[in-house]
Amino acid sequence: MKSTSHYYSHIPERLSGLVDLSYNLWWSWNPDAKALFDELNPQGWMDSGHNPVRMLRQLPDEFLHRALNDRQYLRRYDAVMEEFLRLKQSEGTWFAGRMADPGNRPIAYFSAEYGLLSTLPFFAGGLGFLAGDHIKECSDLGVPMVAVGLLYSNGYLHQRIGEEGWQQNAEERIDFSSAPVRRVLDEEGCPLVVELPFIEPRIYVSGWRAKVGRVDLLLLDTDIEENDPAIRNITSRLYTGDAQRRLLQEIVLGIGGIRMLARLGVDFSAVHLNEGHPAFALLEWIRMLVADGRSFDEAAGLVMRSSVFTTHTPVPAGHDVFPCNLIGHHFGRFYPELGIGRDHFFALGDQPVGGHGGFNMTALALRLSAHNNGVSRMNGSVSREMWRALWQEMAEDRDPIGYITNGIHINTWLNPDLRALIDRYMNPYCPRWLENHDNPSSWRYINRIPDEDLWHVHLALKRKLIDRIREYKRRDWANQQTHPGSVLAGGALLDPTVLTIGFARRFTTYKRAGLIFSDPERLKSILNNPYKPVQIIFAGKAHPSDDEGKRIIQSIYHRARQPEFGGRIAFVEDYGEEIAKYLVHGVDVWLNNPLPPMEASGTSGMKAALNGVLNLSILDGWWLEGYNGRNGWAFGDGSSVSDRDAADAAAIYDILEQQVVPRYYAVAGDGVPHEWVKMMKESIQSNCPAFSARRMVKEYVARYYNPAMGCEERCGRGDAPSRACESVKYAAGEPGYR
Ligand SMILES: *Cc1c(COP(=O)(O)O)cnc(C)c1O
Repeated sequence: MKSTSHYYSHIPERLSGLVDLSYNLWWSWNPDAKALFDELNPQGWMDSGHNPVRMLRQLPDEFLHRALNDRQYLRRYDAVMEEFLRLKQSEGTWFAGRMADPGNRPIAYFSAEYGLLSTLPFFAGGLGFLAGDHIKECSDLGVPMVAVGLLYSNGYLHQRIGEEGWQQNAEERIDFSSAPVRRVLDEEGCPLVVELPFIEPRIYVSGWRAKVGRVDLLLLDTDIEENDPAIRNITSRLYTGDAQRRLLQEIVLGIGGIRMLARLGVDFSAVHLNEGHPAFALLEWIRMLVADGRSFDEAAGLVMRSSVFTTHTPVPAGHDVFPCNLIGHHFGRFYPELGIGRDHFFALGDQPVGGHGGFNMTALALRLSAHNNGVSRMNGSVSREMWRALWQEMAEDRDPIGYITNGIHINTWLNPDLRALIDRYMNPYCPRWLENHDNPSSWRYINRIPDEDLWHVHLALKRKLIDRIREYKRRDWANQQTHPGSVLAGGALLDPTVLTIGFARRFTTYKRAGLIFSDPERLKSILNNPYKPVQIIFAGKAHPSDDEGKRIIQSIYHRARQPEFGGRIAFVEDYGEEIAKYLVHGVDVWLNNPLPPMEASGTSGMKAALNGVLNLSILDGWWLEGYNGRNGWAFGDGSSVSDRDAADAAAIYDILEQQVVPRYYAVAGDGVPHEWVKMMKESIQSNCPAFSARRMVKEYVARYYNPAMGCEERCGRGDAPSRACESVKYAAGEPGYR
């Protein structure tokens, strides 16, 4: 804070809280807080790319004076600040209300990706958004947590599509001086630096802190003078194809993370690993305990009881496996410090599945944590089956891999206009519906919302999405940054009155983005129906080294430019948090057709469902649990056919022709398609409680965090079940829940 305060000398004392607020991502899921920045200077807010750190620094005095003289603005400022200050206390939170000892030591949450805001682009896809939503929800519920990740100085790629439809991997160094992060400092106010112990080569790590509500997110960075040039760029970009660099990143994340926490005096009680990438954290934790005088077995037992591991990847090939010689090179001085020999050490990462040797990060995490879960019912059982061989080698009393189905952070993904509409009609009956959104009975009153009102809010969001797409293409064109084909393919011909399907996710092969083009003639007839036309908006990035994914983008891009498709196909560049919001708020139908059982959970469909966007999805991942026959459409229920692609595509065409299109265009005299709106309401009320991060985090607390934190010993064991357990009566799995 010291080093940045001079940027803010122009901010008057009366409004000084705005500076702190701009550094806490809490504003981003609190519409009233966001409005404080927007209203201060709407143009500046837009120009800053909705980045309050940047906007405040450049804010001309006249806007501050205007706000100082605006009693209404000051009143709202005070109200937001009062709420903001409450974040500093843990009393009154859901977690504090349920724990015998609210002074709980935090859980250390580790993830290689965090999907938060476009100013912190440290995500490639769903894994990152899950982590971002998880820590936001822990903040809301008051679950004590500190999160650890990496600060990628170039973020992930910026996607531009070239004239030939080929994805170009544009890189852009992030300007950290205007990002909502601050350097972690030592007692003297200098950047804090820790060394990774017993690791070859010598690596120093510094840290940045982002505030995510009550949760501190520590982002590790090797780009400091203390390091050799080759070490400095370990953290320069997310997911390099290079195994050596990736291994070093995982060493920095896991071992550096634990070192940083220890150096900061964070007395964590448990560790939660999101995917296998950070699994070295458990080794470093064991090493600390061994250095304290414990035996390896004792230390490993302690760590195991206090560790939670969430696995997402349903195929052996998807896990990180490093060559043993590489591991041996970096850990040669490390493993003797664990008090074990070379064979024992390598056995920790031995993979019983997939055959060939190597050091498997998922196997390491599974061996060293007692609490393991997949991220949907299906993913849990696939994982359990895949790792069966590993369980055979382990002690009999080890729990099998369980599951906690993913959820999304409702205040992040529910559109504010829709939220206001729901509030207007539900508030009189259920004033705390938003706080209790994970309770299905809170949603009983959704039918109080008149169809017409819901429909009009939806149409406005759709118009906003299409305006946004066209405006960006217009600007590219005006700035001579593009060619005519790109303007067309990018969505210039989209029509807000047409039934609109959205398809947006990573362009990786199993997601089958091109599936709907399997029978181009049939698709053309659906899109070009003169009375009931359909249009499709695609978005998504291919991994920089995934040429197959880039080819799929290219072929969609070519289709989008072919007149036969009638201008009804668009590909929107640079899919990220911002475009995702426009899409899940504004399209009519969310299409998802991965190859089962590859979709661990899928979360974008939950975001759509929450906003009344109807899912048309294959039965895989979360939709196996979410689909109830009335809240969207499903296909592909497990039948083994010789040509799966053709069968799934045909199912999509059938559903579109026979159900989706007729229902959408069955508009009554009042201009409202009532049967469609009925499904929208069903989609919101059935999916929101079940697939909220609130339900998910409450489950983590009850099933895993409590025992991992040793809470059972304090408030449960022997007498009553833990109180957190009781409070999630309506969490998944209870009879009658869905
Ligand atoms: C939610 C989200 C994802 C995850 O989507 P899936 O359907 O799980 O693949 C990926 N990227 C962005 C930008 C998201 O918001």
